[in-house]
Amino acid sequence: MAFVEFRGVRKVYQMGEVEVAAVDGMDFSIERGELVVIVGPSGAGKTTLLNMLGGMDSPTSGAIVLDGRDISHASPKELTLYRRHDIGFVFQFYNLVQNLTALENVELASQICTHPLPAADVLRQVGLGHRLDNFPGQLSGGEQQRVAIARALAKNPKLLLCDEPTGALDYETGKAILGLLQDTCRDTGKTVAVVTHNSAFTAIADRVIHIREGRVAGVEVNDRPLSAE
Ligand code: ADP
Ligand code: ADP
Repeated sequence: MAFVEFRGVRKVYQMGEVEVAAVDGMDFSIERGELVVIVGPSGAGKTTLLNMLGGMDSPTSGAIVLDGRDISHASPKELTLYRRHDIGFVFQFYNLVQNLTALENVELASQICTHPLPAADVLRQVGLGHRLDNFPGQLSGGEQQRVAIARALAKNPKLLLCDEPTGALDYETGKAILGLLQDTCRDTGKTVAVVTHNSAFTAIADRVIHIREGRVAGVEVNDRPLSAE
């Protein structure tokens, strides 16, 4: 069994009389330790997919399995624990707490999970050993995204789930963040999933899952993905 499996996943929203299938029968798998990019245009179902994989929402039908566990019928309480322990989230706009330092932001992870990694170590790992006591407002966009990545990694999650992680950054800074995600994947063996509309990501992925109109339109497996450096 693969590390992540989507099997016949559907998510239907009721719009008055009309049913909208935001995800309309999706099958794919992700192997442990892969850097996977899930790419598709606006309206393809990326947010809906991300919400289900991240445990924010449950599918209408089908199965979602992470590390052997089917989360598609999990209770709200079980999903809360799943979000806390199993998934590290990285967002487009960082979502840092403005009145806490970089170190304190990363230490937040230790309040919600049982086996956090040492915050200062993880910040050094993302190249911010010299920024521990800076507040988000004193950091560049790229540095703030590094703090957000450190915060997600400090939970030592099974899956790092990134939603348009370079969407707010200029080209060069975005490239450096991609390089960091790639290094993280290689150095820690962590499984990293990036959801994006930006096809520039596909070259660095081990696996690319193209989605369109709520379905998988194609999957590519790259033997030797390009380095973002
Ligand atoms: P993406 O993130 O790729 O832009 P979404 O997952 O947001 O795609 O949306 C996929 C489709 O499902 C779109 O047609 C969208 O309008 C529809 N959709 C998403 N969420 C809802 C909702 N809460 N209610 C009704 N329709 C929705
Ligand atoms: P190229 O040699 O094609 O110009 P670069 O060296 O500029 O590629 O970038 C390396 C890889 O990282 C390429 O696959 C590129 O598409 C991707 N990339 C660079 N910057 C970004 C970004 N901001 N967002 C997404 N992907 C990017």
